[in-house]
Amino acid sequence: MPHRRPPRLTAVETALWLLEHRVEFDQGCALWTGAIGSQGYGNIYYDGKTYNAQRFMKIALHGAPPDLTMKATHPLFCPRICVAPEHTEWKKESRCNQS
Ligand SMILES: [Zn+2]
Repeated sequence: MPHRRPPRLTAVETALWLLEHRVEFDQGCALWTGAIGSQGYGNIYYDGKTYNAQRFMKIALHGAPPDLTMKATHPLFCPRICVAPEHTEWKKESRCNQS
């Protein structure tokens, strides 16, 4: 690994660092190049917990959803590993995450 994440960053600092070091930009998508979970989505390890990368980035950069049970979902053109917060939408139902 060429870059190690500095310790003790806030969630926002972590998100910004990750955007710079763990993401490849492609046609507006921010493709996650870090760890991938079993569902094919990015994983972010932060403050002792593992988070869905897309959800973590969205909350860190755009704020929490109106309802914390909401899922972070992609528009259809996005691959699963896209973590661009402007591509992430909050949805109530849980079965709309197929991309
Ligand atoms: Zn995207």
